[in-house]
Amino acid sequence: MRSYDVAECGSPLKLFERPTPKPEGAAVLLRVLAAGVCHSDIHIWEGYYDIGGGKKLKLTDRGVALPLTMGHETVGEVVAIGPEAEGVRVGDKRLVFPWIGCADCAVCRRGEEQLCLAPRFLGVFRAGGYADHILVPHARYLLDIGTMPPAQAAPYACSGLTAYGALKRIGAVLKEEPLVILGAGGLGLMCLNLLKAMRGRGAIVVDTDAGKREAAMAAGALAAVDGGAADAAAQVKKAAGGGVWAAIDFVGATSTARLAVDTLTKGGKVIVVGLFGGDITLPLPFLPLRAMTIQGSYVGSLAEMRELLDLVHRAHVPSIPITTRPLDAADATLQELRAGKLVGRAVLTP
Ligand SMILES: [Zn+2]
Ligand SMILES: [Zn+2]
Repeated sequence: MRSYDVAECGSPLKLFERPTPKPEGAAVLLRVLAAGVCHSDIHIWEGYYDIGGGKKLKLTDRGVALPLTMGHETVGEVVAIGPEAEGVRVGDKRLVFPWIGCADCAVCRRGEEQLCLAPRFLGVFRAGGYADHILVPHARYLLDIGTMPPAQAAPYACSGLTAYGALKRIGAVLKEEPLVILGAGGLGLMCLNLLKAMRGRGAIVVDTDAGKREAAMAAGALAAVDGGAADAAAQVKKAAGGGVWAAIDFVGATSTARLAVDTLTKGGKVIVVGLFGGDITLPLPFLPLRAMTIQGSYVGSLAEMRELLDLVHRAHVPSIPITTRPLDAADATLQELRAGKLVGRAVLTP
């Protein structure tokens, strides 16, 4: 099998040819049909997160080992099944849930494998989808995509699930109150689509890029505000008719997180999702006095992945723009994404 791997952080992805694995036990082997190129792949490739103050959190210290086949948004066709695997047949097209834990600890048994302390995430700690084949440890991580085209289904494994997970952390109040979405890239637009499908009140979208604000309005945003404006928080509050109950920060930079905090009303919540990096300082009395919650959200659970696909089918959620590329363009695509040149989602189709 062929794959494009991170052999060294910051260097071009390298082509590897290895024997195609045979699935053992309950494992399933799929031929990759679509592999989304995600923003977090850039951080993995660079090898660190910016944690502010000039400091970096190295991914190798978090257990990422090289060479690594990235790619955590994968759709494949089942080509071989381990002797104990059940529930799938050769020829089935499936979306791979990549946020796999140890499957054995209390967290995993509660169904929150994405929070397991011994993660086996495909494309992060184990080989992912930038390849012509992918090995999945158990059939329960394979989800039916119905008639959805593979390239359209793949991004639901990360960007879709991340947006859905963040919306779920807000709770039922999203049906009554407008929220703020910071960042109108692929994730922000996906979030707008899902919010509509969940019958949410709507969102005010903040982005510094005029083109992205336009795209957000076209996707049904209540208003779009330039995050670079000195009075951005006031503009958001004006559009919302007051402070907001929830702000989702898909950027995760110092400026966006600060703006998110500034738009909240009493009892409000900021959900940080983006990994751009930086830090913020907060006067501690604000937390109790404003009954404020600052929460991080990391992808979502396997149950939420199923809920999401169900919602997408039921509510006919429109696809975000998809650009397909051959597997050989993996490195070039990653670099284009890094340079901010891609609209919507790029998907490799080996
Ligand atoms: Zn991702
Ligand atoms: Zn676990």
